[in-house]
Amino acid sequence: MQTLPTLTVYNTLTHRKEVLRTLLPGEVRLYVCGPTVYSWVHIGNARTFTVFDVVVRYLRHRGYRVTYVRNYTDVDDKIIQAAQQSGEEPGALAERFIRAFEEDAAVLGLIAPDVSPRVTEVISEIRALIQTLLDQGVAYMAGGDVYFQVSRWPAYARLSRRNLDELRAGERALPGEHKREPLDFALWKAEKPGEPAWDAPWGRGRPGWHIECSAMSEKHLGKSFDIHGGGLDLIFPHHENEIAQSEAAHHVPLASVWMHAGFLELENAKMSKSLGNVVRLRDALAKVDPEALRLFFLSNHYRSNLAFSDEVLTSAEARLQYFYETLLRVAERLGNRTLPAGPVHGDPAAPLRAFEEAMDDDFNTAGALAALSGLFGQLNEQLDRPPVADKAVAARTLAALRDDVAVIGSVLGILGTAPGAWLERRRDRLVEQRGLDRARIEALLAERTAARKAKDFARSDALRGELEALGVEVRDGPAGSTWKVKG
Ligand SMILES: [Zn+2]
Repeated sequence: MQTLPTLTVYNTLTHRKEVLRTLLPGEVRLYVCGPTVYSWVHIGNARTFTVFDVVVRYLRHRGYRVTYVRNYTDVDDKIIQAAQQSGEEPGALAERFIRAFEEDAAVLGLIAPDVSPRVTEVISEIRALIQTLLDQGVAYMAGGDVYFQVSRWPAYARLSRRNLDELRAGERALPGEHKREPLDFALWKAEKPGEPAWDAPWGRGRPGWHIECSAMSEKHLGKSFDIHGGGLDLIFPHHENEIAQSEAAHHVPLASVWMHAGFLELENAKMSKSLGNVVRLRDALAKVDPEALRLFFLSNHYRSNLAFSDEVLTSAEARLQYFYETLLRVAERLGNRTLPAGPVHGDPAAPLRAFEEAMDDDFNTAGALAALSGLFGQLNEQLDRPPVADKAVAARTLAALRDDVAVIGSVLGILGTAPGAWLERRRDRLVEQRGLDRARIEALLAERTAARKAKDFARSDALRGELEALGVEVRDGPAGSTWKVKG
């Protein structure tokens, strides 16, 4: 059997980094709380989903079999409210935003989870779980609702380490609620006019928020699984309540490791749809290259908060441009010849090891990107080297480094586009942003090519100067002259 690497992960439950020990050898079962589909996904959520996307990709890269489940919350107070406002059926509104989410996720390059269950698909599992909790005496019926009785579950707040007395003091029953104690939470809400409802032994109604994730994770991953993930804002009460429900029902730990991604900060305020300071992922993707957005999301450790601004996105795009320009030079240098095996310069596998070392340490993507930058430094050094006697050694070294880029890029979900195509798209975006006259640029370039052909170098230099004044840089390559917008 293949030996798996030692990977450490920070566990919110124990407040420390631990060696990842999976319940089944070589297999990671991962559940991530997905979006509540009442509106467009915002970039704060997109960061969280990108973090877990890279976690899954990296675990697979390291040889683990991964089962990745990310749900859709398609029944919820917010969905019902939004549907009342838009005049749609709640189900139709949820369906519309699931489709929008999937479109945005595809543009952002998020891999599809193995299973994307919806609450409306697991109503019978939810009912069975609520029945178990009622049978165990940790839940009670009141006014057509069913509540979890927190005082019957002594381990409550173990994940969030909140003080129960303080929590009690801060909780108020909302109008229409029938709970006995302030911390009790709804497992089932009695039917209200105009709301979606399902039959249940204790009366028609719909599930509360938390119970769905307990039911869906059990259905697709079992009563105990390896990693449960989500945003930091889900620790309390959502994940706390998931643990209470699942563990009170089954008496086994719900998840071995709890991973939480930090907030995306916009002008130092937590990003959430309810605060209104929202940047929709779709709006961001219309302005920014998706790979640049990923590069930005991964630029800080996933547990740290990350500050969002136009400047950081601009610098992420410039960084990618440098990466792709380097890859284009490599492609031009290597062409499509096959290289015979043989010696190389230095140790081209070193950058990949540095990358894995960073990622093995609690998915340290900031360290991983530093390793990637080092790799591009080596590529450029190799490209700029004066020609050596043994050209095959140089070419093999370049090819080996380029292969490292491909491996790292596929884990991070970047650098997967053909360099020429990416650079062209980037140029088009810059031409548009700066309001440049494309036809004039192309005409000057054609004139310059003609001057060069006629060996009129004075004219060719003058035209280069004219293009420079427009903010355009000309590059003469083996396949003719190309241009780019100056940085
Ligand atoms: Zn959840």
